[in-house]
Parts: sequence; structure tokens; C-alpha cells
Amino acid sequence: MVAKYVPEPFRIKMVETIKMLSREEREQKIAEAKYNTFNLKGEDVYIDLLTDSGTNAMSQEQWAGVMRGDEAYAGGSSYYKLIDAAQDIFGYKYIQPVHQGRAAEKVLFGLLMKEGQYSISNMHFDTTRAHVELAGGRAIDCVVPEAGDPSKRVPFKGNMDVEKLESLIKKYGADKIAVVIMTITNNSAGGQPVSIKNMKETSKICKKHGIKLCIDAARYAENVYFIKQREKGYEDKSVKEIIKEIFGYADMFTMSAKKDAIVNMGGLVGIKDDEKLFQDCKGRTISFEGFVTYGGLSGRELESLAIGLYEGIDENYLRYRIGQMEYLASRLDEAGITYQSPVGGHGVFVDAKAMFPHIPYYEFPGQALAIELYKEAGIRTCDIGSYMLGNDPDTGEQLHADFEFTRLAIPRRVYTQAHIDVMADALIAIKDRASEVKGYRITWEPPILRHFQASLKPIK
Ligand SMILES: *Cc1c(COP(=O)(O)O)cnc(C)c1O
Repeated sequence: MVAKYVPEPFRIKMVETIKMLSREEREQKIAEAKYNTFNLKGEDVYIDLLTDSGTNAMSQEQWAGVMRGDEAYAGGSSYYKLIDAAQDIFGYKYIQPVHQGRAAEKVLFGLLMKEGQYSISNMHFDTTRAHVELAGGRAIDCVVPEAGDPSKRVPFKGNMDVEKLESLIKKYGADKIAVVIMTITNNSAGGQPVSIKNMKETSKICKKHGIKLCIDAARYAENVYFIKQREKGYEDKSVKEIIKEIFGYADMFTMSAKKDAIVNMGGLVGIKDDEKLFQDCKGRTISFEGFVTYGGLSGRELESLAIGLYEGIDENYLRYRIGQMEYLASRLDEAGITYQSPVGGHGVFVDAKAMFPHIPYYEFPGQALAIELYKEAGIRTCDIGSYMLGNDPDTGEQLHADFEFTRLAIPRRVYTQAHIDVMADALIAIKDRASEVKGYRITWEPPILRHFQASLKPIK
């Protein structure tokens, strides 16, 4: 049965007209883009699901905040408003704004680890892994095995494998583990949540071994809403209470505010009580980002972030946000289309390998589905599979990813139920003619992060 769509808890005051191209025009545009969705112009896209990062629609309160933004170089009122909001929500003493999530990682991780140390995470996001490595460390993923099975419906697929965590600490020695990072929700596993119980157990292990625990908090509000929905004993707790509890188990956090804080640019570092660490963070912020009271953001961005933090934890908003994902997922269930399930907090990761069993990994089923979605309905998505993974750096051979997903990442407060139906209808139409869809080969690629720039060609 199709889930009931949770009505939008807002009305629309300003609209942006979208260009509507014909199928022939779209086929021409994607060919001109060398079959790479990153090469398409935004204006040629009808529904843009490339990412949910920084693509959020701000509210009238946030836009009013833009006008109120205090652009003082030092000590502006927007800075103090942001600090008050973040201290109130997270219960941490020290908050440092930065320009986005990876800037928070750059500022903090350089202080946490030395050459030859490790970080262990339920799963490192790609920029998080990069900043661990830039700081001289090595990143180890330690997610529960259920995360690897797209059809297995368990409530907290993003969890840390705590037994493996213990054994990794034993193997390398606690002094070699610079930090444990809990990513909530677990983005790389498909926006899957982490339970409070798992957070508590991870915290206990870290304390026992004297290892710092850091939250990667990009989608913390969606994670907390899943806890409220799914974890025993939390049904009647408020979102704010659950946030306090979960952050209480950690020592610090990094955050990309471009997700759950519903802004287009921004980030935070939070430190519970370590004054020395905060002092050092301020020094690095001044070098990399700007003076501590703006951290690479303008006063108007600080102001809209302070407001967006509260809007992002509003329970009516979160019910609608998660409900939108559940509605889309239930339409796919009805059509027999498989995806990383249960659906995560920020989008649907469709199993392209299951849809196109005739396309081998080295002909990129996830990319083929992304191209079909654009041709079918002007929907822009991306491959999360072998095409994104790239080649073995030693042998140059194409790597074989564990999954071949096409990600439909849903921007916050941007698209309506009718748009969600367009997504479902497009996927269903493609499934009906799946056997005719061909794979792709790469005609040009750069040496690293090729998926952003490569050129492709359909296989005849
Ligand atoms: C987006 C993201 C980041 C990086 O944040 P940016 O704002 O893109 O720099 C880090 N971790 C997770 C889990 C993310 O989703």
C-alpha cells in the first residue's frame, strides 16, 4: 500500500519557474554533456536531485534574517545569535562557525591526530576521509554488516559495529586511535540512522580506552527523528531532548550546515568542554577561515543559520521531511523497484544493479539509470557505484563496487508531492523498458575523482 503523503507544513510565497524541455531536447543536452549529469546546466534540469547539500529552500524568517545580518568584522550580533542557538540546541560550551562541513574537518582534525594514527567511523564521508588523511591519519570504516544488504529492513542500518570497534582498538592499540567518528545519519550507507543505544555503547567503549568521540552531525535532525519513530522508549521524548542526549555521549562535533540546518552555505565545530582544544581551533579558524566571529561566513549567513537550526528540528517539519521519503519509497515498493531499504533520511538510493541485471559493473548500471532519469523526465541524479569508485590506483583497473546505486537526493522544502510522483512515475516507466537500456563506456577521465568530469558514450 502506498504511504499517505504528509502535507507540506508551509505555503509558497515565492516561486522559481523551471524550464521544461522536450524529450528530444533532453536527449540532445545529455549527449552534449558527454553523458555526465555533472556537466548539465542547472537550467536544463526539471527536478534536480544531484544532492540535498546547500540546495535547501530558506523560509521567510531566514530571508528576513538575511536583511538583519550584522556585517561587523568582529563581534557582530548575528554571531552571538548563532552561538546562543547552537549552545541551546546541542548543550556544548564552545561553538565555532566555519564556511562548510569540510572546513570544520580541516580546522578540527589537524588538532586531533598525528602521522600514523587512525580514525574509526561507522562510515567516513568522502571529505571526512580526505581530511583524516591530510592530517596524516588513516580512516577505517566500521559499520554493521546489515548496511551491505539493500533488501534487509532493519531500523538502524547506520550503526557502528561495536564488537569490531573493540577488536580494532585491541589490534592497533588505543594510543593509535586518535578519534572515533559517528556519522549521523550514515550518509554513505544511504542516509541510514544510528540508534541511541549504539551511540551509548560506542561512547562507553571510547571512554574505557580514553579515545575522543566526535559526531559528524550533517543530518543529525533526521537521525533524531528516526530515533523518535523507531527506538523503544523515545516515542514520547521531544526532538530537542533526544538531541541533548545523543550529543551528551560525544566530546565534539563537526557539521555541514548545508543539510539539516536548512541553509545554502555554512558549517560548525562544536566542543563540549575542552577549553584548550577550542583555543587551538580558534587559531586554525583564523588562519583558514577568517576571524572567529565570522568563520568564513557573512553576517547574513550567520543570521539565517541561527534561524535554520531551529527550523530544522521542528517536529512538524521533520514529520513531513521523512514522510516525503517514505511516500516515494512506498511507491517504489508497490512497483517492485528495489532500493537501500528502509528508506534513509535524505533520499532514495535505487538499486540499479537489480533494475539492469544485463549491464555489468564495468558498464555502469547506476550511471545508466541516472541518464535514463534525465531523458525520461528531466530528473538529475548521480551514480553511487563503480562509476563513482573509479580505478585501482596501482593497476589502473576498474574497481568493482559493492553496490550500483543511483541516488535521488531530495532538497529540503523544495519539491511538492506532484514532483515526487514524477520521480516515481519516471522510475516505473524505466523499469518497464529496462531490458532495452544499454551500458556506458568512458571515453575520457581525469586521474582522480573522475565521476565529476569524465566523458562517456553509450555502448552500441
Ligand atoms: C556533506 C557532508 C560533509 C561535508 O560537508 P560540506 O559542507 O559538503 O563540506 C561531511 N560529512 C557528511 C556526513 C556530509 O554529508
